[in-house]
Amino acid sequence: MNYQDFTKNIIEADDIVIFSHVNPDGDTLGSMIALYHVIKNNYGKEAVMVVTGEIPDIYEFLPEIDKAVTFDKISKDKVFSLAIAIDIAAKDRMGMGVSIFDRAKVKMNIDHHKTNNGFGDYSLIIPDACSAGEILFDMFENLGLKIDKAVSDSLYTSILTDTGGFRFENTSAKTFQIASKLVEYGTHAGEIARYCFESKPKPMVLLQANALMNAEFLENQKIAYTCITMSDMEHFQAKEDYTEGIVGALRQIKTTEVAAVLKEVNEQTTKVSLRSKHVDVSKIAAAFDGGGHAFAAGCTIQKPVKIAKDKLVEEIKRYL
Ligand code: 5GP
Ligand code: MN
Repeated sequence: MNYQDFTKNIIEADDIVIFSHVNPDGDTLGSMIALYHVIKNNYGKEAVMVVTGEIPDIYEFLPEIDKAVTFDKISKDKVFSLAIAIDIAAKDRMGMGVSIFDRAKVKMNIDHHKTNNGFGDYSLIIPDACSAGEILFDMFENLGLKIDKAVSDSLYTSILTDTGGFRFENTSAKTFQIASKLVEYGTHAGEIARYCFESKPKPMVLLQANALMNAEFLENQKIAYTCITMSDMEHFQAKEDYTEGIVGALRQIKTTEVAAVLKEVNEQTTKVSLRSKHVDVSKIAAAFDGGGHAFAAGCTIQKPVKIAKDKLVEEIKRYL
């Protein structure tokens, strides 16, 4: 799609719904909120925001995120004029809300995952963009749309979190140029960084410490992994998002090439997060019908955690 298609579809729409992805992160939430405010302030339209799963506490500062709803709050036969998927690598990442997306008259897909297959009627997939927020910034600027502080803070959150604080390989000259412009638009960089990185709930940090203590290392310490069970989650009274950041901590170890966190969702389901320094882990995730980026990917394996671990390790070894 080109940028004018965005404007045309917003103007023609009677009602608009925006979808973020399951296990929402700073990019999908920041981008969704930025879209919400841009649509409201530039086109005078109120969009419905859909979240799947709990919004991590740290993102409660995003302006008007409390307006976001879960898909079950939308009537079953509702047909929206326009549905926008933001930062959604694959349709199943919308969770149960996907049926609402599918029913919409016009479907738009804005994303930066290279594994995105371009689902929808209009897709804007830019794998070189560090975040969905970066794609939106370019589009808003190009269309001459008003970027107020709410939009600026939200896009900055997207970019800051998806680049791991401007540290990951996806951080480009352009990323810094956009960040610089957002600060000029009124965002306080230090304030957003404090919300995103230094406002963790205490049990989250303790769960992380426990998971790191239980980590295992294979193949000359090139593989670092840990399993988080349902009983660990219960012990630390952890919310779903409390496992965020553990896989990144395993990658911090000098010898680590591939880091993995296996999370027991139930007796038969294991959610896997993968991070690496050189290996393309999106290929490993794809072997289990998952996807993502070269150095950050994920998948869900329909096996008990111990069996999933063996299968995953076997697959990782093929890429070392
Ligand atoms: P995380 O480990 O933070 O859950 O996910 C890392 C990256 O992989 C994210 O960019 C996310 O979009 C992608 N990802 C995680 N799980 C899946 C999955 O099950 N399917 C696909 N296609 N992508 C995933
Ligand atoms: Mn993203």
